Amino acid sequence: MNKTRLSRYAIFLMLFASLVFLVSVVGHSALRPGPVPSAVLVPSEIIAYHGSMPEIETGPVPDQGAGIKEDIASKYAVRYQNWKREFLSTEAGRTQWDLYQNNPHFTLTISVSRENAEGATTGKYKWNDAGQLVAATITLGSRLDEGYPNPIYFPVMNSLGPGDSTARVDGTTLAATKIAHEFGHVNRTAKADPQLYQLQSQLIPQYNTIFLTNGRNPSDPKLLDLAQQIGGTPVEIWEDREYWGEANAMVYLRDRVTEDNLRCLLFSRIRHSVDLYAKSYERRFLDIVQANPTSKMCGWQ
Ligand SMILES: [Zn+2]
Repeated sequence: MNKTRLSRYAIFLMLFASLVFLVSVVGHSALRPGPVPSAVLVPSEIIAYHGSMPEIETGPVPDQGAGIKEDIASKYAVRYQNWKREFLSTEAGRTQWDLYQNNPHFTLTISVSRENAEGATTGKYKWNDAGQLVAATITLGSRLDEGYPNPIYFPVMNSLGPGDSTARVDGTTLAATKIAHEFGHVNRTAKADPQLYQLQSQLIPQYNTIFLTNGRNPSDPKLLDLAQQIGGTPVEIWEDREYWGEANAMVYLRDRVTEDNLRCLLFSRIRHSVDLYAKSYERRFLDIVQANPTSKMCGWQ
């Protein structure tokens, strides 16, 4: 009897110790973002915001009608209109919206979904035989005006978080910044080499499967060969895409926040995260600050 009790107690102690360990590991990673992970898989921080990898579509181009197609359930119509109005309150937002609205060879579908409520994603990319991007779909989360993505891959959206200052940017501006991030993905994919983009979509899952089954060895010749074909490791491809999304989010914020103190607070937060996590991508953010030489550089020059 005593032995049984003793062994039960030992099992309890072991479980308790594992739980304490697990809580400390999870707590640690949640509180401190830490350096950019050196793993080569698609980073979990990106999946946490975007929900999944963007899908691409093949086959004949459907006749969807050109321009922007807003496919919004009535229960989300009011909030969507507020976010859209906020996006269109800037020159950057209006210019980009009009570009897609008036393009007779492109269909941009925008929808709102309760899945991935605080995130958004852009996908369903489709190219015609001539290699032009002809369709894309942006899916916005139903609580887009809440939640600040992590600073590692999302230095611009993260800058809107409450932080230690009393200066606040409201949820509608946060939602419009997220819309600008997604427009940044569409803008960039329209300029990308479609064959390379499609090859990346096909081979990134293959790369990840090999990596997870080869003892996580990124020097595996098969992985080096795949990285050569797709123009980098999955992390390198993803961070490049995300920082283009963020650059467009920053263009929107630059136009939206005209008050110097608040803009400089946001820009210095962005600079802090870019310094820590995205140093090799600094140029694309700096270009946005320098595009208007008459306004304050906010510590960026
Ligand atoms: Zn993104």
